[in-house]
Amino acid sequence: MELTPALQEDFDTVVRRNPGEAEFHQAVREVLESLGPVIAKRPEYVEMGIIPRICEPNKQIIFKVNWQDDAGRVHTNRGFRVQFNSALGPYKGGLRFHPSVYLGIIKFLGFEQIFKNALTGMPIGGGKGGSDFDPKGKSDNEIMRFCQSFMTELSGHIGHDIDVPAGDIGVGSREIGFMFGQYKKLTGRYESGVLTGKGLDWGGSRARTEATGYGTVFFAEEMLKLSKESFEGKKVVVSGSGNVAIYALEKVNKLGGTVVAMSDSSGYIVDEGGIDLEQLQDLKEVRRGRISEYAEANPGARFVEDGMIWDVPCDIALPCATQNEINIGGARALIKNGCTLVAEGANMPSTPDAIRAFAANGVRFAPGKAANAGGVATSALEMQQNASRDSWSFEHTEERLHDIMVGIHERCYETSEEYGAPGDYVVGANIAGFLRVADAMMA
Ligand code: GLU
Repeated sequence: MELTPALQEDFDTVVRRNPGEAEFHQAVREVLESLGPVIAKRPEYVEMGIIPRICEPNKQIIFKVNWQDDAGRVHTNRGFRVQFNSALGPYKGGLRFHPSVYLGIIKFLGFEQIFKNALTGMPIGGGKGGSDFDPKGKSDNEIMRFCQSFMTELSGHIGHDIDVPAGDIGVGSREIGFMFGQYKKLTGRYESGVLTGKGLDWGGSRARTEATGYGTVFFAEEMLKLSKESFEGKKVVVSGSGNVAIYALEKVNKLGGTVVAMSDSSGYIVDEGGIDLEQLQDLKEVRRGRISEYAEANPGARFVEDGMIWDVPCDIALPCATQNEINIGGARALIKNGCTLVAEGANMPSTPDAIRAFAANGVRFAPGKAANAGGVATSALEMQQNASRDSWSFEHTEERLHDIMVGIHERCYETSEEYGAPGDYVVGANIAGFLRVADAMMA
């Protein structure tokens, strides 16, 4: 899609200033493509330079992380924290540990996080961090030493009123535990609200682990309600098998749908009878095994090593693995097989041409910054519990999460109507998120 001349100029500046950061350019362009009508209505944003200001991170921290493996060898990785925007509150966003991580990935995630966090209605700014460290195949002790070393550098930049990291790919409550311990040791403070995604015994929130997956399904449920549909009897494909995917599976089951395929980086499994939650949890959360083992243990299931999970026929697709995992080929396969709704549990899993194909073929589409906001929203609830030294029940927390997701859906839908694109959740999410941040910046 074309940008207006002024927005094109802003976009060109982003590309020039951030060479080679393709994912960041993609995330910025996707937001700017929605903003033409807003800028036309609100010339004061241009006068105040809001677009270039919002596209430039407040602070970008890059640091060296040395750590020792079990054989005594020392390795060096690179750590990042991008503190993108603090108009609405302390920087908030996860840490990703994955070999693909470089500054461009962290900036794309941080940029998305600004608008996502704004959509939740909670007082949180946007940030993101991580490392190119690969946790795969590492022992618990190696993970611990890496996390401690990472936190030794990061600790001077964060705080419960400054910047509050959490998990993302490769970072769960084990890693948050190692990092929280190191922060506590370095600072001598029990500052619960400095990290979220903590364990339940030491300041974590109930339903935080489940929140992103549940939230994505709650959002999709609201989309379905508009045409008087539900998950009942629907066939669902969920990519990934991390905590987003696992708890999406749980909630889809609860609402009467059947998840017929899931994946990890080695391939995907198909089980037409419905993937078994407990077996998958044991495999992925306890044994940290490969998804092929599920098929080995279940005669009704098959494992596909090469290929695309999007070839599996379904009514609803929930991409919950990673960025750009649905390309145009994936989108075409989904459309051909009759998929009518895609809600993103991961961050930016659909490429721009895939999103255009969904729109052109009447597939309802929810972008990650709206559909997966339940994770960070529940992190904000964790911060709230920490600040009041309280701990809520699972039911209460899930109810809050549900209300927040219903609210985000409503905000996105109403904004899409107001801007003449009813049901276009990309437009709705980008504009509604942007307006909240931009107005705070103006103020
Ligand atoms: N990594 C998650 C996200 O992409 C959660 C971040 C958080 O809880 O701060 O939104």
